[in-house]
Amino acid sequence: MSAGIQGSVGLDGGNARSDTIAVQTLLTRAGMQLGLIDGRCGPKTISAIIHYQRGFLRTPDGLVEPDATTWRHLTGGGGASASAAPTPIRRVTPVRTPTRVGLAQAAAAAVAAPRVPAQAAAPTPAPNSSSSFLTKLPRPPRTSLNKGLHSPGNTLLLGKYGAPRQNYSQNDQPITNEKLKRMMTTEHVGPFKVTGMAPAVASLRQVFADVQAQMPTLYNALGTAGMKCVRYQRNSTTKISNHSWGTAIDLTLNGKLDGRGDNKVYHGLVLLAPFFNARGWYWGAGFSTEDAMHFECSTSLIASFPSA
Ligand SMILES: [Zn+2]
Repeated sequence: MSAGIQGSVGLDGGNARSDTIAVQTLLTRAGMQLGLIDGRCGPKTISAIIHYQRGFLRTPDGLVEPDATTWRHLTGGGGASASAAPTPIRRVTPVRTPTRVGLAQAAAAAVAAPRVPAQAAAPTPAPNSSSSFLTKLPRPPRTSLNKGLHSPGNTLLLGKYGAPRQNYSQNDQPITNEKLKRMMTTEHVGPFKVTGMAPAVASLRQVFADVQAQMPTLYNALGTAGMKCVRYQRNSTTKISNHSWGTAIDLTLNGKLDGRGDNKVYHGLVLLAPFFNARGWYWGAGFSTEDAMHFECSTSLIASFPSA
């Protein structure tokens, strides 16, 4: 059996080199992609831990602790008492969307969830609390985000729906485009009520239902800072914000907004992004100016919507 680790590895972990090498080796053996086994616990390793934990924890915390649940899973279980796990073992099958992204994630989840005898799951308390959602992580490499998804530019939205209004500022103003106005709706989408383009609002409801089923603690932390908002993009006098068509939303976690442009992202948003991506939403952490609180309908999702 494994020699064990002396300290924790992962998000806010001790991350001693030898422990990190042990965890990276086991993650690789479990089929997780993390690049080099280099003894350095960076974003790739943390994200691999989170993906691995999705196979058996309802709320992954990105941390492997000595002789705790994740370590036991990595080392093939055993040693734990026979008491039942407090939460059912759940496979992440984020979505049944027949997209490449969805299939890839389902495949990754299948790899991440090896069959583990029930008694191997430790009787841990609720794994992770909402407190770690606001931990700041370095933005993951942009090329690793939003796989296969693209942010729609103004040209696409103007071509399909027309201009929301004639002129814009940095502040929200009413939509004057009558056809577009008729597409707006105000509805509950699960954790809160939003105003946005009807098909985008319907899609959001699906995203949040996925989150509620698979990560209820994260779901309970969700709030919004607004969906439809007719204005220019921040610090621009030419580019219209996608919020103007009601196809983008800004989110809060435990009431907090992730700061824009600091290349750091809340842990909770890292956990949330795959749910959005799987339903065709683009995460704003992939913009050149990082905007991790922001999610918007991708080009392919917009293409699936009816015209005005
Ligand atoms: Zn936004």
